[in-house]
Amino acid sequence: MSDLHRRVEETQAILARIARDYSPAVFASSLAAEDMVLTDLILKARLPIAIFSLETGRLHAETLDMLKRVRETYGYEIALYKPQPEAVEAYVAQNGLNAFYDSVEMRKECCRIRKVEPLGRALAGKQAWITGQRRSQSATRAELAVQEDDVAHGLQKFNPLTDWSEENVWEYLHENQVPYNALHDRGYPSIGCEPCTRAVQPGEDVRAGRWWWENPESKECGLHVVDGKLIRIKSVAA
Ligand code: SF4
Repeated sequence: MSDLHRRVEETQAILARIARDYSPAVFASSLAAEDMVLTDLILKARLPIAIFSLETGRLHAETLDMLKRVRETYGYEIALYKPQPEAVEAYVAQNGLNAFYDSVEMRKECCRIRKVEPLGRALAGKQAWITGQRRSQSATRAELAVQEDDVAHGLQKFNPLTDWSEENVWEYLHENQVPYNALHDRGYPSIGCEPCTRAVQPGEDVRAGRWWWENPESKECGLHVVDGKLIRIKSVAA
């Protein structure tokens, strides 16, 4: 069995176990390549795991186009969680539309309003959530575990693609003809909000284009604050 097919089987087993033991479970999709692998696996297996996205109001048109392509390919409507309009209006009125360039604090406050607060609503009442994070994506994800205690949100967090390589992801997408964000073909390995994401040069870190004006250690949006412990894939999938 190839490396990819072994990983696919392990991931299918993890997803099936989440659906069985942690209902209701949800999958937070940023509509990027990794998330499309999980979308394909969840929807083809008809698992009772709802998929949602955080529509921050600052996404690329290409990212929003993925909602239509998922609808056309799978007949599935991804649920959208948006920021509270009054919170966005107050931030912009007080600080300006693009104040996130001014300091890490300003950037984190924008992420809190546009991502973290809506995520809290999306996770309310759930037992588990799933992300497409991989360990090799960045310095901040080097310790990523397949299953973590998400103390901040009070539920379990699963990262089924933890051990997948970037090559695994693209081999899966091409082999299964899964739609993917057009920005990936234009030098964007990692995609976030439009003003906070740039293309990267060959050889640059995968996440170098995210909040490129900040240090690597600060480059998370506050969605993944967990107190996790490593649980091996085999024990989760068993
Ligand atoms: S990524 Fe940028 S635009 Fe998006 S929520 Fe964070 S700071 Fe705001």
